[in-house]
Amino acid sequence: MTGDGRAGDGVMILTGAETNAPRSGGKNDRLMRRDMTEETVEEGPADAGTPESPGSLEPGAPEPGAPEPGAPEPGALEPGALAAKKRGSDGGKIRLADLSPEELTDFVVSMGEKPYRGKQIASWIFARGCSGFEEMSDISKASRDKLAAVSTARSPVSLAESETDGSDGSRRLLWRLEDGKLIESVVLDEGGHLTLCVSSQVGCRMGCRFCRTGTLGLKRNLTQGEILGQVLGAAALVPPEEGKITNVVFMGMGEPLDNADNVLRSLKIMTAPQYLAIAGRHISLSTVGVVPRLEQIAARGGLKCGLTISLGAADDELRSSVMPCNRRWPLARLKETLLAFPLPRGRRLTVAYVLLAGVNDSPEHAWRLSKFLTGLKVKINLIPFNPWPGAPYERPAPRATAAFQDVLVDKYHTAQIRTTKGASVNAACGLLVASAKAGTA
Ligand code: SF4
Repeated sequence: MTGDGRAGDGVMILTGAETNAPRSGGKNDRLMRRDMTEETVEEGPADAGTPESPGSLEPGAPEPGAPEPGAPEPGALEPGALAAKKRGSDGGKIRLADLSPEELTDFVVSMGEKPYRGKQIASWIFARGCSGFEEMSDISKASRDKLAAVSTARSPVSLAESETDGSDGSRRLLWRLEDGKLIESVVLDEGGHLTLCVSSQVGCRMGCRFCRTGTLGLKRNLTQGEILGQVLGAAALVPPEEGKITNVVFMGMGEPLDNADNVLRSLKIMTAPQYLAIAGRHISLSTVGVVPRLEQIAARGGLKCGLTISLGAADDELRSSVMPCNRRWPLARLKETLLAFPLPRGRRLTVAYVLLAGVNDSPEHAWRLSKFLTGLKVKINLIPFNPWPGAPYERPAPRATAAFQDVLVDKYHTAQIRTTKGASVNAACGLLVASAKAGTA
């Protein structure tokens, strides 16, 4: 998701810091003063149901996030098949950043090396973000040369552009992939820690109408290495005096659960103590609610990170008009899935709701949202739409946003208005790429 403040699935892409403290339901809370600020939203008038839109979610398309027919489960690959599947563009060599640590060990063993060599290389790639075999000082030159002949340890992403917003310190990073496509990440300074908003796809086929990325259509999924490369690359770019990236949100370009295998693979490495060691409670995955993938994840015990659901409306007719994915996974089915979804102890679901002036921002809409959320343990992020050029919606008046929040608080919900940083550098999902080179994205 991207979108509105990362709306993410559009919703939170540009997630920013929260400006006002969360407000929990309770009569006294109604008297709290609220500051309205900006948030970033992106939208895109793309219609996910339009067959002529490449990569769209047209009828008959495979379930988003479904494995490719015949694709083996991660970790079950034979080195030979793996070599074919994980090939990067670097002269047809195997791209080690796309392998799991276990696959990497299988690979080096198939090359005549000892298994511990796989751990060494995984550490260089996933913990230290090395940029080539030549940096691997604890591996003999003979071994490095042998491996370098058939594989590459280079990061699959390279920085194409970086821009900092002087007003809030957010930094947008435009990455070039090996096939020339562009993706973006945003580093957000959230007062004491840095949060990185990462992309999971090049473009997106969900077509949320408030999201700029949705206008691009889906170009392709990002690989594990391309997802992790954003984190490792950003960590290397941030000067120590600016802090450390401690939080990651999947709210950049793309719907994470439309690329579930690679997102889950990258999450596993991101949270591993011996690699990136980012705590699961500091990671959040934002989705429009790809029900089949949520059901699969729930059956495996859930996520080890937070989950944000982008709603946009709490009745089917309106939600389908704003978020075409709702035609495929209507609200009743989504709610049933969320009720059964296991969450880490002490965590609640986050619901992201992009407020669109005159569309879904009335007290009546807030009341419907409250009713829909009955029975779910949630906190609600309200994201006033931030218009982009050509956007089909407008930003609601602060008074309307406040009234919406009041209805939710009166119903004893925790509801906060989100601020989005980075607006001045077009740091909303899809805006960076769109403003760079639409043709290459
Ligand atoms: S169109 Fe895609 S990237 Fe944009 S908000 Fe929807 S799911 Fe997220």
